[in-house]
Amino acid sequence: MVKATGTKSAASGKTDQKGAGMRTRSAAETEKIRVALVERRDELQTEYDTSITELTELQRGRLDDSAGDDQADTGTKTLEREQEITLANNLLERITQVERAIDRLGEGNYGWCERCGNAIPVERLAAFPSATLCVHCKQLEERR
Ligand SMILES: [Zn+2]
Repeated sequence: MVKATGTKSAASGKTDQKGAGMRTRSAAETEKIRVALVERRDELQTEYDTSITELTELQRGRLDDSAGDDQADTGTKTLEREQEITLANNLLERITQVERAIDRLGEGNYGWCERCGNAIPVERLAAFPSATLCVHCKQLEERR
C-alpha cells in the first residue's frame, strides 16, 4: 500500500525569476541609497567636467606652442594629456556604473550581496556603487 509520492519535485519553482525575492528593504532605506548614489553621480560628474576642461586646456596649449618646445617639454605635455584622458575615461565609466546602479535599485535588485544574500550597507554602496558583495564576503574573496 505504498502510494507514490513522486509529484512534489516539479513544484520547487527554480525557474521563477523572482525566486530570490525574499529580499526586502524598507522604502526609507532604498531612498537613502538612491540619494547616496545620486550624490555620488553628481560628484563624479563634476570631476568629469573638470577633467574635460583641463583636457581642453592642455589640448589648446599644445596647439599654441607647437614648434618652439623642446622635446622633453612636449613629452611631458603628451603624458599629462594621456593621464588626463585616462582619468576622464575612468570617471565616465564610474558614472555609468552609478547610473546602472540607480536603475537596478529601481528594479529592486541592487545592493544585495551576491554571495550571502545579505543587504550591503548603504555606506559601502555609496563608496563603491559597483559593489556586489558585502564587506565580509569581499574579504573572503580576496583571501582566496
Ligand atoms: Zn555577503
